Amino acid sequence: MSVEQTPVQRADFDQVMVPNYAPAAFIPVRGEGSRVWDQSGRELIDFAGGIAVNVLGHAHPALVSALTAQANKLWHVSNVFTNEPALRLAHKLIDATFAERVFFCNSGAEANEAAFKLARRVAFDRFGSEKYEIIAALNSFHGRTLFTVNVGGQSKYSDGFGPKITGITHVPFNDLAALKAAVSDKTCAVVLEPIQGEGGVMPAELAYLQGARALCDANNALLVFDEVQTGMGRTGNLFAYQHYGVVPDILTSAKSLGGGFPIAAMLTTDALAKHLVVGTHGTTYGGNPMACAVGEAVIDVINTPQVLAGVHARHDLFKARLEQIGKQYGIFTEIRGMGLLLGCVLSDAFKGKAKDVFNAAEKENLMILQAGPDVVRFAPSLVVDEADITEGLDRFERAVKALTQA
Ligand SMILES: *Cc1c(COP(=O)(O)O)cnc(C)c1O
Repeated sequence: MSVEQTPVQRADFDQVMVPNYAPAAFIPVRGEGSRVWDQSGRELIDFAGGIAVNVLGHAHPALVSALTAQANKLWHVSNVFTNEPALRLAHKLIDATFAERVFFCNSGAEANEAAFKLARRVAFDRFGSEKYEIIAALNSFHGRTLFTVNVGGQSKYSDGFGPKITGITHVPFNDLAALKAAVSDKTCAVVLEPIQGEGGVMPAELAYLQGARALCDANNALLVFDEVQTGMGRTGNLFAYQHYGVVPDILTSAKSLGGGFPIAAMLTTDALAKHLVVGTHGTTYGGNPMACAVGEAVIDVINTPQVLAGVHARHDLFKARLEQIGKQYGIFTEIRGMGLLLGCVLSDAFKGKAKDVFNAAEKENLMILQAGPDVVRFAPSLVVDEADITEGLDRFERAVKALTQA
């Protein structure tokens, strides 16, 4: 049975959609592995991964099979009932991490919203109404709900929406002295991304995260790691905290967790979780069977030594070639990041031109990302073929050549 579909084009976007996005000129219609095809049949290589979401590329057989099997069984029951995929996925996340309890929701912002509410509730229950301050990093990104956008350290995203949420302080990232000066007995949580993603692919220093852990412990504050972008194998460990060996009290995951299907999770310990008693928090779709069935397949495929080791191997391929391109064309000063979250820092001559690099890449049939105006970001599938890496980086070099020699 096929339903007749109205033809649509990119121009329709400007007529029917709220103009908060500025999507590219083409419309992708199909994907397979790290290749995507648009309406005209043009084939592109995808190193953007739907912003670090398509962790196993497009239409991965294990995910298609998990989704279609679940689609024939049960789509949704709400949290008035529980369901098998949610319980199985929770077990898998607990087995693989520090966590003992899981709360499912649908987006990174929602996972962080839950984390921040939990941190405030724990402090309220244990220490009273004066301990509610959250300390976060400048340049951080935690989502776009009112609470999460206020915790995020980029005022361009939080200004202009009325009164700000109070009790949030921002400190420079990787500056332990500044964090130490900001933490007090009023602090309920310190919130950090192990690698600032949107803020320019900026990894935390080990001593910074260790120092943050110690400051939290000394001040009865919780350490929250936002691993929405760094989690689910992106760094070559299942979660970045495992690479650093610094264990948070609360961790949030989204993006890659569903490999393209919307799902997010907040992970925490038993002792903290018990503060969210019946009725304190919730969401209709959280733990949806379709989402959790896909999440199970994602973790089954990713959390294996071969796939995680493959991330390191692919990192080396990307990094070596990007360094060569950066030097040869004088466009990058540094390639930073971990695993398959890479940031190419534009040299002075190209400062502010990340969008031009994006456009040049698109002309060469390559999808990439920016992370702010000064950093070109790569977040490809963790299982991208070596041939696709080579071909994609050849296209990237042609784009850089065209841009720098224009
Ligand atoms: C993308 C992102 C978010 C927000 O996730 P949404 O699913 O867009 O709500 C939060 N934190 C980090 C670190 C992210 O990269």
